[in-house]
Amino acid sequence: MVKPIICADIGGSFIKFAVSEKPGQIQFLDKIANPADNWQAFSQALLSLVNKWQSHYKSDSALAISTTGVVDNVKDTVFAGNIAAFRGHQIKQELSQLLKRPVYIANDADCFTLAETHLGAGKNHPIVLGAIIGTGVGGGLVIHGQIIEGRGGITAEWGHGPITRTEVAINGRTIHLPRVRCGCGQIGCLDTLGGARGIERLHLHLHQQSLTSQQIITLYKQADVQAELTIKVWLAVMSEPLALTLNILGPSIVVVGGGLASEPELIARLDDKVKAMILNPIDSPLIVPGMFHQDGGLIGASLLVERA
Ligand SMILES: [Zn+2]
Repeated sequence: MVKPIICADIGGSFIKFAVSEKPGQIQFLDKIANPADNWQAFSQALLSLVNKWQSHYKSDSALAISTTGVVDNVKDTVFAGNIAAFRGHQIKQELSQLLKRPVYIANDADCFTLAETHLGAGKNHPIVLGAIIGTGVGGGLVIHGQIIEGRGGITAEWGHGPITRTEVAINGRTIHLPRVRCGCGQIGCLDTLGGARGIERLHLHLHQQSLTSQQIITLYKQADVQAELTIKVWLAVMSEPLALTLNILGPSIVVVGGGLASEPELIARLDDKVKAMILNPIDSPLIVPGMFHQDGGLIGASLLVERA
């Protein structure tokens, strides 16, 4: 019999907690605020969760963690700008000692991509790129069913590097783009213009109007002229780095996660634009919304143990 696996999804604000009887299937158990500032409080919060729900698994069931941040499984560290608790700690080693069970950990975009590869929109594809278009822009890469965890835990991070254009031409009009310092320290990363915050930043820059990304997308769907321009600029900014990423990695499917995954019309426009820029394009959809953009972290975590 397969041993149940304990799964945790760690974000800057919350810890989601679940049990998996079978890889890929999860039973949600709990959600608590993440005491993200302090290791002692964070690790004790995990210990309390594990103790609270112990009747759902074995005393030596593994804990599989999906977390925000850069996960370096070689150094056993996680760097997450919004989780100070991780700093200076050997995450797996310290948690497995405290919780008295094996601990596995992967980045949440990687877990999402793993879930999509085995159970979702990336099924039967040898190379799957997970493109996270949420608050910002991130990614994960799964080849032949395995997460590719690159040097220092960096792979498929198409949102970083000073890669965005300084101007785009839309309907014969040249539009200068804002150059913004990214959380990674560089200026001009796609992460600053490409996610939901990026849509808002572009709209403010173009129309001096402060709206939420959801409001802008709603207006765009109502054929609002200003919102249409914002989305056109956004598509122009997004499509080039994504096309380059596709030419380098060669995925046969790109599965979109994050909040924008619930906007299939926008994803379809992005797909058209990107396919016009890549080598040897195909007719069928290449960039598609994922199925697990809500709980891909937990589902992917449940798949980590048998793949370790
Ligand atoms: Zn950056």
